[in-house]
Amino acid sequence: MIDVRGVHKSFGDLEVLKGIDLEVPAGDVTVILGPSGSGKSTLLRSINHLEKVDRGLIRIDGELIGYRRRGDKLHELREREILRQRSQVGFVFQTFNLFAHLTVLQNVVEAPVSAQRRKRSEVEPYARELLERVGVAEKADVYPRQLSGGQQQRVAIARALALKPKVLLFDEPTSALDPELVGEVLDVIKELARDGATMVVVTHEIGFAREIADTVVFIDGGRIVESGPPREVLDNPVHERTRAFISKVL
Ligand code: ATP
Ligand code: MG
Repeated sequence: MIDVRGVHKSFGDLEVLKGIDLEVPAGDVTVILGPSGSGKSTLLRSINHLEKVDRGLIRIDGELIGYRRRGDKLHELREREILRQRSQVGFVFQTFNLFAHLTVLQNVVEAPVSAQRRKRSEVEPYARELLERVGVAEKADVYPRQLSGGQQQRVAIARALALKPKVLLFDEPTSALDPELVGEVLDVIKELARDGATMVVVTHEIGFAREIADTVVFIDGGRIVESGPPREVLDNPVHERTRAFISKVL
């Protein structure tokens, strides 16, 4: 479903991604681990064409992301096409990023109405269903500032789901939360995984990774150092760097 091939990305002189290959089959959960600055967010943002890669290709469900091939040349897509592609990817950020001036319900309804031109009256019942699913249905008419961090993040997840995306990307979805609120957000993500969502989750929550990941990928210095099932990468890492990192975050 997600296919990342030979992706390189630099910011000025700093090469952040040094040839990343990653394949996430439909319905699979891939957890990405790695030290700060290793390129995890840049990789997720590249999958959504929020960063333009310098080299390599990214496909989602077979569709080339950000570019169109003409002959042997690639041409960047127009903004409208890029936005259409982006609407097939649900992105959940560390810092929720809800629209402060919109109610919870409006936050969830907004993208399907503006990006997909669906009718508000049609989208609303589905938005309420999603809020129910993430356990904040009773908060539909309040504003984000009236919610706890965990509730805000669950609304952000409902908002990401509202576009019926093909894949979900989570960038450290619990690292801005107070410890007692982490579990409620992880539970929602676990349930999505059980329901068959295709997702990539950047997180330092090792227990969570062990529970839901089909594949754990350890990234360091812009390269994939090691990848495989959790019981290999987490419990029996081959590389010293993986071992050192895991013992630090446990
Ligand atoms: P963290 O765990 O701290 O979130 P990360 O693995 O997500 O780290 P990235 O955010 O991908 O790391 O950043 C990788 C490197 O690229 C860092 O050195 C960062 O400073 C640099 N970087 C990221 N975005 C930009 C940008 N827009 N301009 C310049 N440098 C950037
Ligand atoms: Mg990051």
